[in-house]
Amino acid sequence: MAERTSLECGVMSKGLIKIQAERCKACMLCIEVCKQKCIRAGSTLNKAGYLSVEFDENCGCTGCALCALRCPEVAIEVYREN
Ligand code: SF4
Ligand code: SF4
Repeated sequence: MAERTSLECGVMSKGLIKIQAERCKACMLCIEVCKQKCIRAGSTLNKAGYLSVEFDENCGCTGCALCALRCPEVAIEVYREN
């Protein structure tokens, strides 16, 4: 019998993202798209004068990459643990 993958078993993968603060324009699109609520409004201004968003490392990020796909500034990198 074939071995079942973690996806078939319903186990979520674990992920994390890195936000390049200097690219962020605080449009908040990534916040809207993240079902895990991993991204929040930031409190630090970047050089362009935007409050760049922040990642909550304890949020249960699945590494789905929806945030990175949505970001118009290509400011998000996604890392996933299989
Ligand atoms: S990879 Fe998915 S779960 Fe993780 S922060 Fe982005 S949208 Fe949220
Ligand atoms: S989608 Fe990109 S530019 Fe917009 S707030 Fe998120 S990281 Fe910043």
